[in-house]
Amino acid sequence: MAGPKSDSIPTFIFVMGQPPDRLRLAGFFIDPRVFIEDVVGPRLQVVARDQFILSVLVHGIDSAVYTTHSRAEVDTRAEAVTKALWLMPDYVLGIRTAGETLQQIVRERTYTNFALLAGLDVILIIAAVIIFRNLKREVDLAQNKTEFVSNVSHELRTPLALISMFAETLELDRVPSEEKKREYYHILSKEAQRLTGIVNKILTFSQTEARKKQLNIEALNLDDELRAILNTYDFHLRNKGFDYSIEGVPALRICADREAFIESLVNIVDNAMKYSEDVKRLVFTRGQENGFTWIAVKDFGVGISKEEQKHIFDKFYRVPGGNLARSRGTGLGLSLVKQLMEEQNGKILVESTPGKGTTFTLCFPSA
Ligand code: ADP
Repeated sequence: MAGPKSDSIPTFIFVMGQPPDRLRLAGFFIDPRVFIEDVVGPRLQVVARDQFILSVLVHGIDSAVYTTHSRAEVDTRAEAVTKALWLMPDYVLGIRTAGETLQQIVRERTYTNFALLAGLDVILIIAAVIIFRNLKREVDLAQNKTEFVSNVSHELRTPLALISMFAETLELDRVPSEEKKREYYHILSKEAQRLTGIVNKILTFSQTEARKKQLNIEALNLDDELRAILNTYDFHLRNKGFDYSIEGVPALRICADREAFIESLVNIVDNAMKYSEDVKRLVFTRGQENGFTWIAVKDFGVGISKEEQKHIFDKFYRVPGGNLARSRGTGLGLSLVKQLMEEQNGKILVESTPGKGTTFTLCFPSA
């Protein structure tokens, strides 16, 4: 007697016993070919995708009852592997690769995996380099800060010690002559100026850092500004044995903040003086190029190596070594100038040869 039927699998349930209200299930029968085509087939399609040809073959005859690909492909049975279907002993499952041989697939996958591994390695190396650079930058900055504190303490302590010593001598009236008195007063005012200079530099730096200082960008006559600075500095320069000349194109105009211009140029001139030894000469050159009007300050001093040029604009950075005059400084000057130049939409450039001299160029937008 035929039992209830599913949509695609014809099943036949045999029942035993009477009357009908006491029917008992004795077993069921499935047509293997229909089962293979309707139930096993779709599963095989999913598993096979484009890479494998899966077929259900009649055991012993090797004729395909079902295959995931066309019959033509199944007939070429190179490298086919068969596996018994335990539920249906009369049938076996044939597996072979589609199109490519197993070796080709293995080779292809090996290459793909190697490529992926190599890509992953490259990404890891890049990440490691970036992390290392950031760490190094942080460590360098921390080290520069420590050196800055000790430099500034030293910078402050020396003038303070001199001021208190000479002030005490004057107070106790222990100065032998009027001439000596004048000399002591001169030292007092020089050291007080030095103190003011250091404190001002630190203050300007912290204000610029915190962007508290509002710049007033206006059209300035480059020569007028340069002359005003040199008038103030002339005595100082000559006093220190410096000779200077002005070259290049006259009457150029720049877009800049007057105070920032003075701060920048004075820093560059101060450095040029500080880092010159035997040849005490400065050359100021002005010019115009690519929308920028520039002023260059050339010295014939100790120079800066290519490696150090990469760091001199960093906060607190000072080139290690050097004599006593050179050892004075905060490492803030060039970093401050760079910041000021960027805020004025300009830039600062350096060219230097150790032992021969250095040229710093301040480029401002032309007015
Ligand atoms: P500071 O002069 O206070 O050390 P700066 O930021 O002004 O700090 O300069 C950073 C470093 O750049 C200095 O320590 C110095 O070694 C180098 N440097 C700057 N200007 C010159 C120059 N004209 N010639 C040689 N070295 C210079």
